[in-house]
Amino acid sequence: MPSFPTTTQKRAKLKIELSNSALEWQAQAREYADEYLQPHEVEAELNGGVLPTEVSARNKKRAIELGFSAIDVPKAYGGLELPLVEQVAIWEQLGRVTNALSWCFSEPQKWMFEACSDAQIDQYILPMMRGKLKDCYAITESGPGSDVAGIEATAVKSGDDYILNGEKWYVTSANLADFFWFQARLPDEDDDALFLVDQGTPGIEMTANPLFSHTYAAHHPTYDFVNVSVPASKRVGQSGDNMAYTRSWFRHERLMIGARSCGAAARLIEEATTFAQQRIVAGEPLSEKQAIQFMLADCATELWAARLMTYEAATADDRGDDLKALHNRCSMVKLFVSEMANRVADRALQIFGGRGYMRENVAERFFRELRVDRIWEGTSEIQRLIIARNLLKRGLDDM
Ligand SMILES: Cc1cc2nc3c(=O)[nH]c(=O)nc-3n(C[C@H](O)[C@H](O)[C@H](O)COP(=O)(O)OP(=O)(O)OC[C@H]3O[C@@H](n4cnc5c(N)ncnc54)[C@H](O)[C@@H]3O)c2cc1C
Repeated sequence: MPSFPTTTQKRAKLKIELSNSALEWQAQAREYADEYLQPHEVEAELNGGVLPTEVSARNKKRAIELGFSAIDVPKAYGGLELPLVEQVAIWEQLGRVTNALSWCFSEPQKWMFEACSDAQIDQYILPMMRGKLKDCYAITESGPGSDVAGIEATAVKSGDDYILNGEKWYVTSANLADFFWFQARLPDEDDDALFLVDQGTPGIEMTANPLFSHTYAAHHPTYDFVNVSVPASKRVGQSGDNMAYTRSWFRHERLMIGARSCGAAARLIEEATTFAQQRIVAGEPLSEKQAIQFMLADCATELWAARLMTYEAATADDRGDDLKALHNRCSMVKLFVSEMANRVADRALQIFGGRGYMRENVAERFFRELRVDRIWEGTSEIQRLIIARNLLKRGLDDM
């Protein structure tokens, strides 16, 4: 197979006005993605997502040195507390890499410092920032699925402990994690809560470890929690808080899915463009064919729109816009940008032709990997429900 040079050294040309600090973070993240992660994608793809131990350790060490694990940590706790725009600039660049190689460090989020007690922050959250602990989320269940309000797992108070019971699906990174965030209903309080549960606590059993479309070192197993006893001090938040912090958590996740999807789309467009310019078909470059030009034009236009809305949503959060409007906009970002990236991956694969169907090709990998961004952190349909409810309640001007 002839090989075509990649365009990894080029910078995205669709410029967004960013502060010097955001540009510096963007450049650092890009350099890290290009030098530390991207060269190992195919190796990871062909090896179940796993890199040699020394490479993983080096990547994690460098990410922590650069400060990536502290970008959303309040300064009072030794973090960098970057504006969201700067965080988006970082995650956009890390999103250029396949096989989740950028998941090599843990990233504590601001909501954790609002929701957790001082003891929990010392024991779980700050060690994540320092690269000592890794977490995973045990929220979704097979019955309620998207309807998180219908969660059936229970936490029942018994003396100074809670007894946890329930089955959790898709617990991402549980094979690598030190502790779970476990969500349960509290029948005695008619409320839900999160609990911090250490791996290896008696009563936790992995019951399935299905294969998924992508090739990641992080798996998504199913777990049974049967009479798992945890001290009451492991409960996150206060009685009656209605888990209000989860709204800030969802906003953050949805915005960063937007950021990563923009990065993935930019890489796909760059690589597909280079290929189209170099591949000769019927005596001329593929890029001379109008059918190919139209696909590239649609990709570039949709990416431009996606970047504008992602950075604007982050800017709106940084300037402290109304929370309901921010929540709605993060749903719009997640919906539009994840779907945009899927369309771009589909077109890029088509431009590569048969080469695009090979697992060593970036378009093939992203074609599989980006699909889940339309599912997790609230499916596209759930985002549309949020947006429609906002429109109907608040009107277009206040969305
Ligand atoms: C690879 C992967 C990793 C994941 N990681 C985690 C994790 O770490 N922790 C965790 O807790 N969860 C995780 N999830 C779960 C993920 O968040 C859920 O899959 C997602 O929320 C959808 O739930 P569901 O799969 O049960 O789909 P369902 O809720 O069964 O939905 C099926 C279909 O029906 C649609 N639908 C559902 N309700 C409505 C409605 N009211 N109106 C219109 N359409 C509707 C959905 O959009 C979807 O198309 C992961 C999932 C995957 C695939």
